Amino acid sequence: MTSSSLADRVLAGDPRAIARAISLIENEDPLAAEVVRTIFPNTGRAYLVGVTGPPGAGKSTLVDRLTTEIRAQGDSVGIIAVDPTSPFTGGAILGDRLRMQTHASDAGVFIRSMATRGHLGGLAPSTTDAALVLDAAGKTIVIIETVGVGQDEVDIVRTADISVVILVPGAGDDVQALKAGIMEIADIFVINKADREGADRMVTAVESNLALQSFSEGTWRPPIVKTSATTGQGVADLWAAVEGFRRHSEGQREGRVRARSEFRLRELLTRRFLDHVEHEVLAPGEFDDVLARIAARQLDPYTAAAEILSRALAAAKAHGSRVTGR
Ligand code: GDP
Repeated sequence: MTSSSLADRVLAGDPRAIARAISLIENEDPLAAEVVRTIFPNTGRAYLVGVTGPPGAGKSTLVDRLTTEIRAQGDSVGIIAVDPTSPFTGGAILGDRLRMQTHASDAGVFIRSMATRGHLGGLAPSTTDAALVLDAAGKTIVIIETVGVGQDEVDIVRTADISVVILVPGAGDDVQALKAGIMEIADIFVINKADREGADRMVTAVESNLALQSFSEGTWRPPIVKTSATTGQGVADLWAAVEGFRRHSEGQREGRVRARSEFRLRELLTRRFLDHVEHEVLAPGEFDDVLARIAARQLDPYTAAAEILSRALAAAKAHGSRVTGR
């Protein structure tokens, strides 16, 4: 199939085409860039909900419940679960299957896991592109679920339209979770497993953390929502909080969209430039030689970078390249 007919089928919402397009992205197939290029003008409509939290916090259970809630309100849902399991253990596939069961007969829901291992170009770019595919396919809400452990995962959620941070009650967890760097990105805090002992203590811990920050008039103060994903308790409140944030931040959405674009463009430029330098500017093996000379203190990294950059610029000048589209 050509990339343009695949893109057409994605735009028509065909689930098999969506799955195929995301596989191309996951495998970093050159066709993926073609597909994204074609669908891109038809994206930007979906509302991106980032959900993150420690492993076992109940993210998948909660997202599953949330999906039912969102569907009841009439929106269609695309879910990308960034799974920390190795693609070889089948963990991601198992999780997928469990969730598929709830929404299997619902054409308004598309669920896909993406494994974190084996991504040469980084996880964030693949996830961002997969979200574009779901957006182009007409999913009005796209949920991106990550384990909030690495910078990549945090970046993914940070550049969504809203960041939901899930925490759970548990001995010793309180302080640890607050330190985890995912606190600053939260637009909404969820204390899941509220049926468990210590939920209120966790709420208090988050509240005292928030009390240390100053929220000026009109700025959003992240609410804390208690949920019990297994029973569904609090899930409607959580969705109401998401919609509350969406209304509140309507005028500022541009900023998030811009941050997302910037993140993506910078990442692509960095990768493309490095690739260009390694394969076009430097002779085969030269990169390694430069590294060896730096290690041996015969060359410093600043001089090396400056020299490589001026060679790349000289080559580009000779080539006469410029940005297209204007
Ligand atoms: P994830 O790793 O964050 O996606 O967590 P899962 O959704 O797989 O849930 C981990 C475990 O916690 C599962 O056994 C769930 O059934 C359980 N769990 C999820 N939510 C709740 C909850 O609200 N209360 C209780 N008691 N258990 C929950």
